Amino acid sequence: MAVSEIRAEPSYSPAADVERCVTCGEPAGTPYCASCGERRAADRPRSLAALGEEIWDAFSPVDGRIGRTLWSLVRRPGELTVAYMRGVRLTYLPPLRLFLIVNVLFFLHASLSLSTRVSVPGAGRVRLSFGGNRMLDTPLAVHTNGVAHRYVARRFLRRRVPPRAGEDSAAYSARITRDYAPAFDRNSTTQAKSLVVAMVPMFALLVAALEWRRRRFALQDVVFATHTMAFLLLLVIVAQYVVGFPVGIALVAMHTRPTAGDIDSVLSVGVGAPLMIWLTLGLRRAYGDGRLAAAAKALLLVFGLMFVLAAYRALLFFTVLFTT
Ligand SMILES: [Zn+2]
Repeated sequence: MAVSEIRAEPSYSPAADVERCVTCGEPAGTPYCASCGERRAADRPRSLAALGEEIWDAFSPVDGRIGRTLWSLVRRPGELTVAYMRGVRLTYLPPLRLFLIVNVLFFLHASLSLSTRVSVPGAGRVRLSFGGNRMLDTPLAVHTNGVAHRYVARRFLRRRVPPRAGEDSAAYSARITRDYAPAFDRNSTTQAKSLVVAMVPMFALLVAALEWRRRRFALQDVVFATHTMAFLLLLVIVAQYVVGFPVGIALVAMHTRPTAGDIDSVLSVGVGAPLMIWLTLGLRRAYGDGRLAAAAKALLLVFGLMFVLAAYRALLFFTVLFTT
């Protein structure tokens, strides 16, 4: 059969021993299609066991893409950004997908709210709880009392849920706490999961402000910011166990009743310090900064992150307020 005949009616040819790519229809002579990259269909295992293997491969830290990406994120700060900017796409997960996977882990962990009883010398058995998500999911009571935007928050709350005629402010707050806050807080937990992404462009602007002379593409700042945010979420999970938990026990052992605020301030050091180190190494690797410059920029970024967090919380407040 001449080549021209095959070309004439490709799909009806009964003697087609040439396998065709299932995605683009080009003749597939190699294990991966030369024109679109699809794997040759004949080589694909179709058993259930193959699916299990695929899941294992995805998460296994040795040759799985997810495991390898997470490991690189933690072990070699900035490496993922460098690889992405060089054009490497097969070895690691793309930045946004990595962020979304870590985000799922984060909110899964947050929804657990584990608590356990531990024996503390001198204080007997004490219940300690961890999990939860005070960093990214802010209850209404905190919006109206504990954050920078509390005055604005109170004013907008009164506009959204107006006081009734003759209702004094004590009765009004009681009614809000009883009737409105539970729905607000439930909605907040849902909204927080997707709004977290808004922190990436905000943080990218800070990186851009510090590195605009060193980077060649603005994309680099966004990629670096995405990796930083993914690392931050992982760090917050780990810090609860490695820092928050032991400090909670230590405070109880010293006969101090630890409040959520105590644990939070310890946690912010437990998160801030490792993040500062990660950023220093990351800026050196991704932007080629000198040691001192990288450390100074890392410090500025950690402080800047507090403003990003405050802006995120304000955004969360208004989004939740207008949808509750
Ligand atoms: Zn193809």
